[in-house]
Amino acid sequence: MSRLKTLVRNQSGVQPLRGGHSLCQGCGIPMVVRTVLSTIDRPTVVVNATGCLEVATTRYPTTAWNVPWLHVAFENAAAVASGVESAQRALRRRHALPGDEDVAVVVFAGDGGTYDLTAIAIAHHAPYVAQAVAVHWHDLSRKVELAVGVDGPAFINVLTDCPLGWGHEPRISARVLNAAVDTCFWPLYEVVDGTYGLSYRPEQPEPIESWLGLQARFAHLLADENRQLVAEIQRQVDADWDELLARCAPEPSPSPRN
Ligand code: SF4
Repeated sequence: MSRLKTLVRNQSGVQPLRGGHSLCQGCGIPMVVRTVLSTIDRPTVVVNATGCLEVATTRYPTTAWNVPWLHVAFENAAAVASGVESAQRALRRRHALPGDEDVAVVVFAGDGGTYDLTAIAIAHHAPYVAQAVAVHWHDLSRKVELAVGVDGPAFINVLTDCPLGWGHEPRISARVLNAAVDTCFWPLYEVVDGTYGLSYRPEQPEPIESWLGLQARFAHLLADENRQLVAEIQRQVDADWDELLARCAPEPSPSPRN
C-alpha cells in the first residue's frame, strides 16, 4: 500500500517526467518512465541511452525531466550508471552527501542497442531480473520496488509499444500490449537470486495471430503462403512458455490485472 501511496504522491506532485515532450501519440514509453520513477521513494538520477525517450524529451532548449538526467551512448549506459554510483559513495565519504540518504540510479535504455537477452542478466547472477509490460503497471511498479531494494544491480525488461514502427493505431496500444502477454509471446516473470517466479498466467493463452494480426509490420506473415511460418512461431512460443513454466515455482501467484 505504501508503494501505491508513493506512486500517487509522486504523480500528483512534481512529476519526474512532465508533459510537453514530443513522444508519439500512443507511445508506451512515458507510461513506463512515470510508473518506474514515481514508484521510487528516494532521490533518483536517470541515465538515458540514446533513443526516442532521450531525443523527444530534451529538445533544446527545453527538457521534460524534473530529475537529474544524463544522456549517454547506447552501449555505455551501465558503465555510466556505475560511475554515478561510485561518485555517490565518494561524495558521501567527503561528507558532501548525507550519509543516510541513498540515491537510486535508474538506466532507461532500449532500441536493442544496450542489452540482448534477459537470459544474459540472469546468467550473470544479477540479484533481481524481471520481465514486465507497460500496461500491467501494477506489476511493473511492484517489480521496480523490489529492484531498487536489492543490494546490487537489477534489470527489468519492459515491453512498450511503438505505434509508428509496429503499425497500429495509437488507440489500441493497450490491446496490442495485452496481446503480447496473453499469447505468451511476452511472459511476465521475475528471477530473484536465481529463483524463477511467474507473475501472471493467462487463463487460456491466445494464438499468436492475436499478437501478429494487430500490427502492420507482421501483415505479410498472415498471407496464405506464410501459414507455415506462423505455425513455426507458435511452436517456438509454446516451447519457450513450457520451458519458463518448468523453471518457475509450482504455485505461481497471478498479478492483478490493471
Ligand atoms: S517512434 Fe515509436 S518508440 Fe519512438 S516515440 Fe514514436 S511511438 Fe514511441
